[in-house]
Amino acid sequence: MSDTTETSPAATRTATPVMISRKPGAPGARVPSGSEGTSTACIRTFGCQMNVHDSDRMRRMILDAGYAEVQSYEEADLVILNTCYVRENAVDRVRGHLGELNRLRRLGRVKKVALTGCIGASDEATTLQRQYGIDLVLGTHNTYELAEFVGLPTMRETYTPDLPGTQGEHSAFVTIMTGCNYQCSYCIVPSVRGRMVCRPLENVVAEIEGLVESGTGYVTLLGQTVDAWRHDGKRFCDLLARVADVAPRVWFTTSHPSNMEDRTLRLIGEKDTIVKRLHLPVQSGSDRMLKVMHRGYKAERYRRKIEVFREAVPDGTLSTDVIVGHPGETEEDHEQTLKLVEDCAFDSAYIFKFSPRKGTEAAELGGAVAPGVVQRRFLEVLRAVEQNAFARNQRKVGSLEDVYIRHGSTEDGKAIGETWSGHAVHVRTESEPGEYVRARIDSAGPHVLYAGEPIA
Ligand code: SAM
Ligand code: SF4
Repeated sequence: MSDTTETSPAATRTATPVMISRKPGAPGARVPSGSEGTSTACIRTFGCQMNVHDSDRMRRMILDAGYAEVQSYEEADLVILNTCYVRENAVDRVRGHLGELNRLRRLGRVKKVALTGCIGASDEATTLQRQYGIDLVLGTHNTYELAEFVGLPTMRETYTPDLPGTQGEHSAFVTIMTGCNYQCSYCIVPSVRGRMVCRPLENVVAEIEGLVESGTGYVTLLGQTVDAWRHDGKRFCDLLARVADVAPRVWFTTSHPSNMEDRTLRLIGEKDTIVKRLHLPVQSGSDRMLKVMHRGYKAERYRRKIEVFREAVPDGTLSTDVIVGHPGETEEDHEQTLKLVEDCAFDSAYIFKFSPRKGTEAAELGGAVAPGVVQRRFLEVLRAVEQNAFARNQRKVGSLEDVYIRHGSTEDGKAIGETWSGHAVHVRTESEPGEYVRARIDSAGPHVLYAGEPIA
């Protein structure tokens, strides 16, 4: 059993550079040296959408520098590991990859290794660099230094991440804020990503206009606490309303319950272009634990927000994050989490076993919960979520849905799409990512809906 039910949704970055782009072969660009004349690079991404987005930016740099992107370490001259630090086993996983890369280096294959992202920004980076002879370590604040490493001109650091990382793709992430001003007891993010910096509204809108012009049909606004976004007297709801007028399809993640305004929840129901799916991490259903975690809200406030969402967006889907086994969590606290899970009837949840992160308050707290107890609590929350989700998904059977194709069909001929209500759907179609198909839902499981043949 893994220690989460799904992958982690978000981690964020701070300063981002303006890139001075240079065409392959231009003066200053890296001289090709690979076996077939061109240098090759492989980027491996761990963790959340923010890291995926950062990898897109680094991809632009390596392509501009004349590298060809490859998918396996064996074929790569340069390997970039863009890492996540949110849980302990994240470091263990990266160690495994570093060991394998050193083996390939000894065989004369991989020539350079770069470690970037949240582990790069952590205290452990120095030890890893020494142990594995890593050539370049970058944190989340200075990813732009990769440019110089791959032979591009140095980039200027600014706080406006205006790199068009994903133009021309059917869907794109757009960072609206970076960092986090909270200090949750268990969380390493504020120390590796820094304090909150919000992008000006006009910059965000201009980037999205460019993306839409280049063919992007689905924009996801990203940040650790997107709903904390504010700039020049404007708040997140104002930004979301503007973006929803510009982009054909919009979603946002992650939100914090303390920042979520009722008018934002109503806007989700009002605007046709916003996907009716809310990800609002609760972490615990116990007020005592929420206080220990420094979450800044009580369970009752969270429940009220959910009531507003369910009323404003009756067909919407709701997901959350829950941590089980935080130090000091009693059986009674756990019961309260189970009760909240039941009351809120989540459509899905990311359930995490507490993982002590060096440098966080919770790592120093007494009251560790025994691993066997954590495992039981994990399974109990998982079961509660799945039961609710299954019952809610059953209600969709028979409905006719416009499905946005996210991933094209695999060998079994089924593509993965998303309804406007935010449900994941398997549908038999040859349609490409970014296209819509109309199909009736035939059946449902706890995690996904299954549609019949699309209706022409
Ligand atoms: N900013 C978001 C929020 O506060 O809701 C979440 C960001 S965090 C990268 C994603 C999730 O990872 C958190 O919501 C939390 O459930 C989980 N998480 C973070 N640190 C953790 C830890 N030390 N142990 C277990 N889970 C953790
Ligand atoms: Fe971490 Fe809390 Fe900030 Fe989320 S709000 S990134 S959990 S410190």
